[in-house]
Amino acid sequence: MKVGIIGGGIIGLCSAYYLKKAGHDVLVFDQSSLEDGCSFGNAGMVVPSHIIPLAAPGMIAKGFRWMFNNKSPFYVKPRLSLDLLKWGWLFYRQANADHVARAAPALKELSLFSKTQYQQLAREVSFDFGYHERGLLMLYQSAEAEHEETETAHLANQLGIHARMLTPSEVQAMEPDVRVSVRGGVFYPGDAHLTPQLLIRGLIDDLKEQGVVFHASTSVTGFDFRSGRVRALRAGAVEYPVDELVLAAGSWSPELAHQLQLNLPMQAGKGYSFTEENVKRNIRIPSILLEARVAVTPMGNSIRFGGTMEITGIDHAINLNRVRGIVEAVPRYYDLQPAMPAREKIWHGLRPCSPDGLPYIGRLKSLPNVIIATGHAMMGLSLGPGTGKLVAEIVQDQVSFGSLEVFRPDRLS
Ligand SMILES: Cc1cc2nc3c(=O)[nH]c(=O)nc-3n(C[C@H](O)[C@H](O)[C@H](O)COP(=O)(O)OP(=O)(O)OC[C@H]3O[C@@H](n4cnc5c(N)ncnc54)[C@H](O)[C@@H]3O)c2cc1C
Repeated sequence: MKVGIIGGGIIGLCSAYYLKKAGHDVLVFDQSSLEDGCSFGNAGMVVPSHIIPLAAPGMIAKGFRWMFNNKSPFYVKPRLSLDLLKWGWLFYRQANADHVARAAPALKELSLFSKTQYQQLAREVSFDFGYHERGLLMLYQSAEAEHEETETAHLANQLGIHARMLTPSEVQAMEPDVRVSVRGGVFYPGDAHLTPQLLIRGLIDDLKEQGVVFHASTSVTGFDFRSGRVRALRAGAVEYPVDELVLAAGSWSPELAHQLQLNLPMQAGKGYSFTEENVKRNIRIPSILLEARVAVTPMGNSIRFGGTMEITGIDHAINLNRVRGIVEAVPRYYDLQPAMPAREKIWHGLRPCSPDGLPYIGRLKSLPNVIIATGHAMMGLSLGPGTGKLVAEIVQDQVSFGSLEVFRPDRLS
């Protein structure tokens, strides 16, 4: 079959990988040159430990507190937008314990499924993408964060994700090359990390070699419908006939979904990162500095710092105050002092955030040759291979994964 994929980020590329493996003709369309994007500069964490969706109890109160601090990790840009209001309302409705109880096992299954695909991918591709299974440290300094993390670790252990509470000296023993200042931490030994730009570039080259056709700098603008199916996608005046269509356009997906008669609530959540190369001292285990919501990842001789969630719509402005918030947080936890990066060294990406914190994965009932695969928010890199494999299985009508019901693309329509 001829499968057209809109989006060459981690989700689109992984879909292309497994679809090609299953023997299909694959076309990938991306409006960008495919040299940067949300899937390149992220923190590179593969996190089965992240079982709590963004929409969880306590997030609304925390969000309001953060809103009034210009260096805080979370911000909603006030704007008159019906889509933003609807998204906020849906988020509010889902931020409760029942939703977490329903979402956590599903996220766990998808995460573990995806990690298995990463292990296999690391064995079968010819390029190195810096994949390491060294776990993840969640580090905290306050009693409040300790309380929350203890609860999360308890839930994780109940669901079979191993989590271990650590004293400050136990954390220090795991990081012999830096001094760590924390009240304690939780260690998730099952997590992994990789270097995203190596993965994305390697995948693009590998897919091209296998015969996947890339249409870079090509914006998909519409569709041609016939007999209740999408017959072709359109990029300006040019039509590309397809048998199956995969929408994996990240934060830009809602507009295209609208043309497919699907209401797909989503907001772009902007985040920043910067990377110091050839550092003399580095951490060994990736970490999240909890109060600051900063992610720190060792990538070979480099170290990457990332964070911030700004719900701003499709907006590429760089807010230096929030980047400064990341820079200033690091020395509070480690005896490392990253320099404030020059503006051109600051990377930003737009995370595709669904209001219930779960991705949209599945076939459309109304247009049966359309598959949606987006909305992975803070976990797109982690869930990429799992999602890509599922997309290929959905096209084959042979889904090996349990139930996809919680990920249904029309669940919030
Ligand atoms: C600071 C930061 C740190 C992060 N850290 C992690 C992490 O450690 N672990 C993790 O799992 N996740 C992390 N993430 C999240 C992760 O990066 C995203 O979830 C993921 O990149 C989303 O991938 P995607 O393929 O859905 O979207 P994208 O990577 O945004 O790809 C979508 C593509 O679709 C293209 N497109 C859009 N519209 C059209 C159109 N009309 N025609 C053609 N092409 C189109 C776009 O150009 C884009 O390339 C982080 C994100 C940020 C910002």
